[in-house]
Amino acid sequence: MESFGHVIAGEEVASADGATFESVDPWTRAPWATVALGSADDARRAIQAARQAFDDGPWPRMSFVERGEVLHRLADLIVANAGELALADTTDMGKPISQTAGHDVPRAARNFRFFADHSRLTPAETFPMPDGHHAYTQYDPAGVVAAIAPWNFPLMMASWKVAPALAWGNTVVLKPAEQTPASATILARLALEAGLPPGVLNVVHGYGPNAAGQALTESPDVARITFTGESSTGRAISRAAAANLTPVSLELGGKGANIVFGDADLDHAVRWAIQAVFSNSGQVCLAGSRLYVQRDIFDEFLARFTAAADALVLGDPKDRATEIGPLSSREHFEKVAGYLDIATAAGARLHTGGVGDGWSVRPTVVVGAGQRDRVTQEEIFGPVVVVLPFDTEADAVTAANDTPYGLNAMLFTQDLSRAHRVARALRVGTVWANCFFVRDLRAPFGGAKHSGVGREGGTYSREFFTEPKAVVMEI
Ligand code: NAD
Repeated sequence: MESFGHVIAGEEVASADGATFESVDPWTRAPWATVALGSADDARRAIQAARQAFDDGPWPRMSFVERGEVLHRLADLIVANAGELALADTTDMGKPISQTAGHDVPRAARNFRFFADHSRLTPAETFPMPDGHHAYTQYDPAGVVAAIAPWNFPLMMASWKVAPALAWGNTVVLKPAEQTPASATILARLALEAGLPPGVLNVVHGYGPNAAGQALTESPDVARITFTGESSTGRAISRAAAANLTPVSLELGGKGANIVFGDADLDHAVRWAIQAVFSNSGQVCLAGSRLYVQRDIFDEFLARFTAAADALVLGDPKDRATEIGPLSSREHFEKVAGYLDIATAAGARLHTGGVGDGWSVRPTVVVGAGQRDRVTQEEIFGPVVVVLPFDTEADAVTAANDTPYGLNAMLFTQDLSRAHRVARALRVGTVWANCFFVRDLRAPFGGAKHSGVGREGGTYSREFFTEPKAVVMEI
């Protein structure tokens, strides 16, 4: 068994009361690691360490160049230890190693490089005033950042929060999801090796409600809370943060619409639509889990899409050839499998797919569901897609906007004007036209409606992780 402690004030430590829990490999369905189980007291210990590093330590006072050097060294170490990091996430949550090694770990390193460079190179505003005054904006680090991460992209999501927070001079307490503690601990070990001063990046493990997670959201010593997870958790965190008026950035759930128009390049649309909903076994907030296909191509698209879904390789996530691993835990498998029953009980049909071996669900295509059915409205977070026909562009937009979520949408068409028109009409944080998941880290990222509050990325991250201050001088 591997062992992962908290990382507090530069030391890897046990919980104050010695409590531990086990992380279970969802492929073998056996525990593979013992992890320190953080209590509210452990979270407070980590906040204290971060507070001290912020108030008395060098990090907030270092130049962007000096901080950037440390963050680039950390990115180098992430790349040098990519095998260990990829295996950690794959073992914790069952994501195929081709995806953790091929995408998540390189992207985590890139997040550190990007925010190191962005913070150094982004100018601040000056406002020369004709009446003999001069104003400028100073971006002061906010203080201690609580970063609360989900299990579906463990290292990648952690780095998306930690990198900008650190680049702008904050200190951090990271709480990874209880299902995926390993890579966050390894990251904190590597950060110390890279030269990050003790207490600047702390990691505390454990659960959310009435535990370490909640304690982070209730602390008056925390200056910012950045959270990614379920919309219902986002509501609980917002309520807790309100007591101290702590600013929150919430990246929440989704039920992405993918609209395929009759004039789309079908091979291209099928390829992206498959990736949009089945990669990471559909455990992606951005998943294109509602597939709206124009009626004149519906049958042909469905046939090609189903054939591609059936061809995906299921199996051991540590095998390089595997494209679909198990779901992340027994609890999550039961939730996703339950939605297959909910779909058929409401009169829909599983065109292909269904429950697989162990905690697996095969790529599942649901047809005959209604727009208002639970399977069409609720986030399933598994390899399950509802395919629905539509007639007009207006019908597609209405249906796409008709859920409480608004994280993202995709559309496939060769008509450029229509792509712009539909992109404008969709009430979401990101629209991908003729592609999916492509990111420019300067662009805003976040959700509309119940999919989030605020945006991160580039200057949006700067706004959140700093206290922008106006300085006005008489000259
Ligand atoms: P979750 O909300 O169950 O847990 C996320 C984190 O919050 C975990 O670390 C958990 O321990 C912690 N937590 C739970 N309750 C808490 C509380 N009361 N106070 C403080 N912390 C608490 O989410 P999950 O199941 O880990 O992740 C899946 C969800 O994340 C899906 O809804 C998915 O759409 C969403 N997600 C969104 C994005 C995005 O960018 N919008 C990205 C990835 C995942």
